[in-house]
Amino acid sequence: MQSRVEFAALLHHNLNMLREIKLTTIDGTLRLTNSGSLEMFFLGTGSAFVKKNFQNNVIVIKGKDHLLIDCGSQCPGALTSYNLSVLNIHNVFASHSHSDHIGGMEELALMHRYVDKTRAKIVITDEYKKLLWEESLKGGLAYGENRPTPYNAGSPGGFLTFDDYFEQITPKLLESEPRPLWEANVGSINLKIFRTMHMPDSVPSWRESAWSTGVLIDNRILFPGDTRFDKELLEYMQKKYNIEWIFHDVQGYTGGVHAGIEELKTLDSETKKKMILCHYADNFASYDVKADGFAALAKRGIYYDFGFSEEPVKQEEEKVSEMAV
Ligand SMILES: [Zn+2]
Ligand SMILES: [Zn+2]
Repeated sequence: MQSRVEFAALLHHNLNMLREIKLTTIDGTLRLTNSGSLEMFFLGTGSAFVKKNFQNNVIVIKGKDHLLIDCGSQCPGALTSYNLSVLNIHNVFASHSHSDHIGGMEELALMHRYVDKTRAKIVITDEYKKLLWEESLKGGLAYGENRPTPYNAGSPGGFLTFDDYFEQITPKLLESEPRPLWEANVGSINLKIFRTMHMPDSVPSWRESAWSTGVLIDNRILFPGDTRFDKELLEYMQKKYNIEWIFHDVQGYTGGVHAGIEELKTLDSETKKKMILCHYADNFASYDVKADGFAALAKRGIYYDFGFSEEPVKQEEEKVSEMAV
């Protein structure tokens, strides 16, 4: 079915050069491929406990590749509303262990194992893999069966392990300072992964925070995921990369574990012009963010098409070897 382009559905800014996003409202079934431009599609734009807009889980689409960023408790239902199921998702990333980001992961894992008998690929560091399994997924996934598999040799009694359900894509650590930065590729989609400062609300930096991460996609789109207001991160990433757009979480008050709108309003106007706010509560949907200098409020059910990359992202490793020559 042909999708239609919404009237006035073009976001743009002209900071370093003209950057445009073409917005196309979904019409029918969510498609997970395109002709090669970089796209994002919000299955939901809401915060953890929303009842209207689904949770802030996003699909990145580029050519024949797709990546689901977070599979929260409402994610399987959100996929169904776009005529897909978790079985259509073959690549996933988990930013952190709150239920609005991993609550649907059990369904995704079980459906793949027992219905289509495949393993989804998951971009995950060894450190977080252990946490995600031991603290969250193991209770629902380890005891499905008790017999030897190619992956559970070290598991007492032959119970299932993380690797029975997922094929790990292990990101490479690029640098440890000023904060850890990893790189991974999902087909043609390049990810830079970094730690964020999300929970608890009382610690001074990402260092003391529980595991939570954000991503930079193709060196173009910054998606910090769940984070408290962290100006240092925004400045660092914008200095290091030529970032076109930032999708940032927001809440209506200051304090707690997310960035407050009043805090975000203090950012410089150039940063705000490229910032699209997401992960918001149901009662935030009517808030006029443009009046405060932001680009927009993210909406679900829309393809955000950023166009083709000027050049493919070179892996850092290649750059290093080039420099060594
Ligand atoms: Zn969240
Ligand atoms: Zn969270």
